[in-house]
Amino acid sequence: MRIANHNQRATLILGESGAEVGVDIFDASGGRFGPDLDLVYGGWNEFISWAVAFDTSAADGSPVDRALLGAPSPRPRQVFAVGLNYDDHAAESGFESPTHLPPVFTKYISSFSGPDTTVTIPEGGAVDWEVELVVVIGREATGIDADDAWRYVAGLTAGQDISERITQTRGPAPQFGLGKSYPGFSPQGPWLVTPDQFADPDDLELGCAVDGEEMQKGRTRDLIFPVPRLIAELSRNVTLHPGDVIFTGTPAGVGAGREPKRFLAPGERLDSWITGIGELHQTFISAPQ
Ligand code: ZN
Repeated sequence: MRIANHNQRATLILGESGAEVGVDIFDASGGRFGPDLDLVYGGWNEFISWAVAFDTSAADGSPVDRALLGAPSPRPRQVFAVGLNYDDHAAESGFESPTHLPPVFTKYISSFSGPDTTVTIPEGGAVDWEVELVVVIGREATGIDADDAWRYVAGLTAGQDISERITQTRGPAPQFGLGKSYPGFSPQGPWLVTPDQFADPDDLELGCAVDGEEMQKGRTRDLIFPVPRLIAELSRNVTLHPGDVIFTGTPAGVGAGREPKRFLAPGERLDSWITGIGELHQTFISAPQ
């Protein structure tokens, strides 16, 4: 099942790739679910029961306009982002791989957007890419085991943890939250895909390219803390709520890890993808003078 935030309404996505059709969940359920995505995640068990039984052949859908897509969970109570969760990225960043817990920070939700956007480079900023698998929680989770963790996941989407490296690293201690939360720095989408849609949800290919040149390509089977373990570890510290968002970390190939370092310039285009989910497209512009 695929669920989108289309024109700020919860939307069931049907149809083949490139010819997607959206069905408004509020209308199709007679007002039981939605129209906001938060309400769908808040009643996830009931929603899934309804959606599984929903007769899609009788659905009255309309074409999906990608320009109207927003982040699949646009107003989570909590956003977690995980650093150094692939060995090759930890190495290019000059750090040891984490053995206990990887660094966990947040991306403020004012940086959230849908999949296709234009992003302003802050004045003097060193703006970098980090393609990441993003998890949306579907059930409240406290102190759960990794073996059980996928049951707490509503679905997966593609994300970019766009990062301004000067703000991120300036000062006596790193400033991850602010450096990674400029407007438009957390594009996500194009939709949420439920875990049952993947042959193996723990092994997805993800990557990104700048102006067509491949920069990152990895597989989520190489996550040091895979999705189930991340959820288990986080749920020992905090309660995870339906709709909460987890950026799971990026593989090697970021601009700051290159020799020489390479950052995004005005006019450049960043394309990101996760196999089985879809693509994100960002175009970068300079800040108005
Ligand atoms: Zn990241």
